[in-house]
Amino acid sequence: MDSFEYRQGELFCEDVPAGQIAEAAGTPTFVYSAATLIEHYDRIAAAFAVLRPIICYSIKSCQNIHLIRLLAERGAGMDVVSGGELFRALKGGADPARIVYAGVGKTDREIHEAIDAGIGWFNIESEAELANIIALATDRNVVVRAALRVNPDVDPKTHRHTSTGKKETKFGVDIERARRVFDEFGRNPRVRLTGLHLHIGSPVNTVAPYVEAIRKALALIGDLRAAGFTIDTLDIGGGFGADYETDQAPFAAEYAQHIVPLLKDQGLHVILEPGRSISANAGVLLARVLYVKQAGDKQFVIVDAAMTDLIRPALYDASHFLWPVRPGTDHVPARRRHDLRMPGCRMVDVVGPVCESGDFLARERYLPPVQRGDLLAVFTAGAYGFVMASHYNSRPNAAEVLVEGNAYRIIRRRENYPDLIEPEKS
Ligand SMILES: *Cc1c(COP(=O)(O)O)cnc(C)c1O
Repeated sequence: MDSFEYRQGELFCEDVPAGQIAEAAGTPTFVYSAATLIEHYDRIAAAFAVLRPIICYSIKSCQNIHLIRLLAERGAGMDVVSGGELFRALKGGADPARIVYAGVGKTDREIHEAIDAGIGWFNIESEAELANIIALATDRNVVVRAALRVNPDVDPKTHRHTSTGKKETKFGVDIERARRVFDEFGRNPRVRLTGLHLHIGSPVNTVAPYVEAIRKALALIGDLRAAGFTIDTLDIGGGFGADYETDQAPFAAEYAQHIVPLLKDQGLHVILEPGRSISANAGVLLARVLYVKQAGDKQFVIVDAAMTDLIRPALYDASHFLWPVRPGTDHVPARRRHDLRMPGCRMVDVVGPVCESGDFLARERYLPPVQRGDLLAVFTAGAYGFVMASHYNSRPNAAEVLVEGNAYRIIRRRENYPDLIEPEKS
């Protein structure tokens, strides 16, 4: 479920016509629904409520400070993976005690900043990193809390670029090594290693890999406790699927149904790190058709959005549902399906202006006839959309708009040409 729907043949975000936003903000523009963002957060919170978890929104999925603020006001903690994200989390009003910080390459500066902020947990990715944080905390005479990221060696069956929980990965340590890390560092008074962290990949569209990973983590926790270590926290990570195919919500309740019984009554604080499952369906990307071009048997719809705005199709072969903003009443989709084939539709590739043949938003898709000037909406573009934007081909970054009910506002202005060369000034 989300707040993007067609009314009388036109796409609305909540109570605002998408076309009106495109007129005011230009294109390409990311449009976010506050109601959808909050609803998806609330659903996860409700599904896991009996565990009283800390739900740390993964900032890297969609980082605009106004969205961070909405979630922080709702009580969300934040999952950060860099000093820049920590900066955003704090500016967005997040409670530092509810911030977790993961990442294989934390610099000394970033570690100091996190200590200054008083974050909740460092999620530790290697022995070398842990030794460094111990050294820095000892120098400063402070105590910090940490969770060791463990690879449960499960296959999340996701794209090879986004699978992180198998044994051969740069993230975390494997389970046998974890025992040795605790033997060496588990009683350190400066860095209190009292938690385990899992993050097996993204998106993980079934529950089974979580169940397997959590079972392995619980067995390890049992061993560690038997050996006299205090383990009071289990962070089960993020990666919960968002529904790219239809307009149905991620199945938070279904994940919870299998995960909650495993974690109840284990004497553990539970942390979740959902990103995509909160932000993906909360955003669409609006683009305008520049040209329609026939090349052999193929028809190309060339739009003003590109891989520099939404790289997921090029990077992950990701498939985003895409449809005209004003398809006319004959072509309103009841459900979002890529294979939607209504009478009068024709197969096209939707591509951007960047000088790469990998610059496409959709391939071999049936669309109603479109012409120059028409608007298209790329759905489920809230997560890993704008955050992965680049300036390739000197393309200024898109604008971002937030809709709340019948009001909307620009929450990030479109970049202009001077923005492109600003850091090059000498
Ligand atoms: C990316 C990431 C997440 C969020 O993944 P989603 O698929 O957006 O839910 C959570 N935890 C860590 C450590 C991550 O790197």
